[in-house]
Amino acid sequence: MSNWADLEREYIMQTFRRLPIVLDHGAGCTVSDTDGNEYLDLVAGIAVNVLGHAHPAVVRAITEQAARLIHVSNLYYTVPQIELAELLVKNSCASQVFFCNSGAEANEGAFKLARKWGQQHRNGAFGIISTFNSFHGRTLAALAATGQAKYQDPFRPMPEGFSHVTYNDLDAIKSATNDQTVGILLEPVQGESGVRPADPEYLRGVRQWCDEQNLLLIFDEVQTGMGRTGTLFGYEGYGVEPDIFTMAKGLAGGVPIGAVLAKERALAFGPSDHASTFGGNPLASAAGVATLRTVIDEHLPENAARQGAYFVEQLAELRTTQPMITDIRGRGLMIAFDLGRDVAGDVVAKGLKHGVILNNTGPATVRMVPPLILSKADVDRAIDAIEATLKDV
Ligand code: PLP
Repeated sequence: MSNWADLEREYIMQTFRRLPIVLDHGAGCTVSDTDGNEYLDLVAGIAVNVLGHAHPAVVRAITEQAARLIHVSNLYYTVPQIELAELLVKNSCASQVFFCNSGAEANEGAFKLARKWGQQHRNGAFGIISTFNSFHGRTLAALAATGQAKYQDPFRPMPEGFSHVTYNDLDAIKSATNDQTVGILLEPVQGESGVRPADPEYLRGVRQWCDEQNLLLIFDEVQTGMGRTGTLFGYEGYGVEPDIFTMAKGLAGGVPIGAVLAKERALAFGPSDHASTFGGNPLASAAGVATLRTVIDEHLPENAARQGAYFVEQLAELRTTQPMITDIRGRGLMIAFDLGRDVAGDVVAKGLKHGVILNNTGPATVRMVPPLILSKADVDRAIDAIEATLKDV
């Protein structure tokens, strides 16, 4: 291990604080390191490996596609990209898709789409209202949309056109709206700030406000999409449809991909308005088709809802003997618990010793976004490992 850590320090810019394991291979919900230790993976590449590791459908799709055609330019048609777009449109409220490579890039695409739409339909309005404690990515505009000063401060000035209001506060959105506002950007469940779901009446109210004011409602479904919250898309669980939404993370089961999806009303791009060299390339798209088909055919959003509810129930049970747990939040397989002390980092580190991979979103909050194939037995194993870990902290 130590040799790899030294080499990493020497050759890679030091932007990540890594845990001291070198992950090597995985299968299903488990992943193993180079020392032969096996872990139950409750992080899944941060909500990416929706089918777990080495799922045969994804492995087959990637292998077969790699042997045919890995990449060609978007100057030509390729079948997997069109198949993936059709699958997405037929299973969502969107009319069309633009493919890119990550969540931040998808959000950048959504901002450009909204600005173009603002030029066409709202006298050049370009302002996006998003929320405090949101997370939308690390590129400059995505960072400007992210309502967390700690991520923005080292890189000011931020691009203009972004303002922030308190989450779950409709009046704050109404007060912040002006002639220059083109859209409202929200995560249906805030992920990076510790799994904080929107109130249903809030999202319904924002939808109504956007309709009344001729604004675009944009949902960042980068983390909540692909079945994570118990429905294929987070918005379905609320019965509130956005005009634009973005995806990435789990869409291709671990192969980098991003997507901007829009309803008819918001389709504003024309030729040359936006582009991406790799976006929707045959390899990523084939992985996306295999992943999305499996998620739908195997009813994985329903499994996420079922196992998520069981997980939260078991955590509540654990709390009766572990009062260190102060709050538990979950929606599908997006789960977090708070601790009475700032020991979440320690819990994550000690979890490794007890065979479980956890993540902390703050000093006192532990988050889990496991594969959607998680079974009841996996949840039981997770609870045992979390209990052993908490006793050790
Ligand atoms: N949006 C949300 C809600 C996210 O959780 C993330 C990443 O955690 C992003 C956007 C950024 O995605 P990426 O890291 O792929 O750029």
